[in-house]
Amino acid sequence: MRPDILNPLFRDVTSLAGVGPKVGEAIGRLLGTEEGAGLPRVVDLLFHLPTGIVDRRNQPGVARSPEGAIVTLELRIDRHVPPPSGNRKQPYRVFATDESGEIALVFFHAETTFLERMMPVGAIRYVSGRVEWFNGRPQMVHPDHVVDREAFEKLPMVEPVYPMTAGLARKTLARAVQGALEAVPVLGEWMDAPLLAQRRWPAFKAALEAAHAPSAETDLLPESPHLSRLAYDEILASQLALALTRANLRRASGLERRGDGRMRAAISAALPFSLTGSQQQAIAEIESDLAAPDRMLRLLQGDVGSGKTLVALMAAAIVVEAGSQAALMAPTELLARQHAKTLAPLAAAAGIRLSVLTGREKGRERQAILDALADGSLDLVVGTHAVFQAGVAFRDLGLAIVDEQHRFGVHQRLALAGKGSATDILVMTATPIPRTLVLAAFGDMDVSRLTEKPAGRRPIETRTIPLERLDEVVGRIGSAIAAGAKAYWVCPLVEESEEVDAAAAAARFAELRSALGPMVGLVHGRMKAAEKDAAMLAFQRGETRLLVATTVIEVGVDVPDATIMVIEHAERFGLAQLHQLRGRVGRGSGASTCLLLYRGPLGETAHDRLAIMRETEDGFRIAEEDLRLRGEGDLLGTKQSGVPGFRIASFEKHGALFEIARQDARMIVERDPGLESERGRALRLLLYLFGRDAAIRLLRAG
Ligand code: ADP
Ligand code: MG
Repeated sequence: MRPDILNPLFRDVTSLAGVGPKVGEAIGRLLGTEEGAGLPRVVDLLFHLPTGIVDRRNQPGVARSPEGAIVTLELRIDRHVPPPSGNRKQPYRVFATDESGEIALVFFHAETTFLERMMPVGAIRYVSGRVEWFNGRPQMVHPDHVVDREAFEKLPMVEPVYPMTAGLARKTLARAVQGALEAVPVLGEWMDAPLLAQRRWPAFKAALEAAHAPSAETDLLPESPHLSRLAYDEILASQLALALTRANLRRASGLERRGDGRMRAAISAALPFSLTGSQQQAIAEIESDLAAPDRMLRLLQGDVGSGKTLVALMAAAIVVEAGSQAALMAPTELLARQHAKTLAPLAAAAGIRLSVLTGREKGRERQAILDALADGSLDLVVGTHAVFQAGVAFRDLGLAIVDEQHRFGVHQRLALAGKGSATDILVMTATPIPRTLVLAAFGDMDVSRLTEKPAGRRPIETRTIPLERLDEVVGRIGSAIAAGAKAYWVCPLVEESEEVDAAAAAARFAELRSALGPMVGLVHGRMKAAEKDAAMLAFQRGETRLLVATTVIEVGVDVPDATIMVIEHAERFGLAQLHQLRGRVGRGSGASTCLLLYRGPLGETAHDRLAIMRETEDGFRIAEEDLRLRGEGDLLGTKQSGVPGFRIASFEKHGALFEIARQDARMIVERDPGLESERGRALRLLLYLFGRDAAIRLLRAG
């Protein structure tokens, strides 16, 4: 299906001159190609851009060559001095001169015949590399280039420097990149002509060539014309894929779902509190989306503890009232079970038939759930993403709710949309993500925001305490739980590790238990699911009052009467994670405390993170600071999940381009939804080049 013109770019890198299987594998490692994904393709190599330059233009002569500098010298080869025979540790030396002095060219483990052929005595050679002064004499160990006049005239005097990996020679990579560039065909222009003219950006091929041939440091700047162009190409590909997905979702619809409000009323009546204004508004927005003939694609943004789960249940209730089914997908099994548990009594009160489905439901039990989903005797299923990817058949799935917390996965959503049923989609995410990130990750989605916290919440007092005062903290926690409080104690690792000086949860648990007695429980990711449940349940019921945990409790765990959060080695956590963890307390009416235990001395970033935690509970501010301190990859979750994110574009440097690309993509889809115009056909090439071609299949399906 891919246009033939792109074929040369989609061959394995081994199709390039000088790239054999070994080098191909090394390039795969360099580009982070996933295990089992095969060899990288030529196109992958094209986007591996240099991060520096080597400037060989400095030609000061031997005597004036500065220590440590890269220089190029015109030399006459005087004599070869091989190492004394049998002594492989001694280097091979070649002495050469210009009118200012003599320099030693030094080679370790060299082949004599090779060196003799390269540097015959009496010949003139152009030698480039790093000069070192040793006991007052200049030398150059393993020069980068030794060439004759003819070759020297062709030698680039400024070379790009690429991020490297072991087992791959610099020259080999440079040659492979050159080959890749030569394979780039001249492609039709996909960029909006007025935009291109206004920005004075080069064409795609020219931009790639310029990106790989920097002649000054300024050519490496993200805002240089060629890098801006490539970044825009990448952003446009992503925005266009998202816009096409959205258009496809809308087109494939036609179902208006309207409930009679019966189940929602029953749920409201069963709640011990009333909905916040923003919850009511979000539910109203969802209700009107569901009632419209278009498919819903809505993002529900709300800080931890803002009450998204209840909004999800109300949304599900509307669909069930209308006679369809709903599914809620959680990022972890623990969270899926927890959602199911909190929702069960409310669902029961409303007559919504609910079941949980994770990897743990097996055999007969699983089959019974699958059957009930297929025949419609189940209304709402709560499970993990993985379960739904494996393909569960519904009688009539009206609404899919994806609880992503802060782990976005655009590609997953594309897969979900590609299934092509008339299902409405609601994505829930914690923390008000900065707008550029929302655009990048979700494209043009409708957004509902929960801006209010449920009434009666009190601010959480956050304190930072050095780990040396651990005993004191244990003492205080002991008296607090004796007085009836519930506390979490979060440790960064599951098992004792030699490299990392981390307090293992198991070890900490043993210590706290011997200090505080049987009120201490433990939950971590390596426990069996049933053990995890039992530990959580005991804590919920108050049979244990101090729960030692790893970050498994990070997402969504809800025990409203827990009021103390201790985070050990808080300096090792990212801001978003600290905020999520702290959000586990302060959910009830009791005053809550968060103790951040740290081991000093703190690095600058860690210090800033802890200071921000002390200063604010505002999720929006924390997200912005996180972006600033951590870089975008982490915040987008691309580093954790290995989802390919952006390779050239940066949210920080190209932020403004996201908005332009979003509008551009929207116009394209409006005017040329099948990508059939001349520009449309060029845009298809763009989608392939940046691996967003899943969206092209949507074009056909639609
Ligand atoms: P989120 O998923 O947004 O982090 P949850 O849905 O887990 O938040 O809700 C956090 C807690 O707040 C839960 O204990 C929930 O029962 C409670 N809650 C939700 N809405 C309200 C409300 N309107 N008033 C009081 N408490 C609420
Ligand atoms: Mg939640």
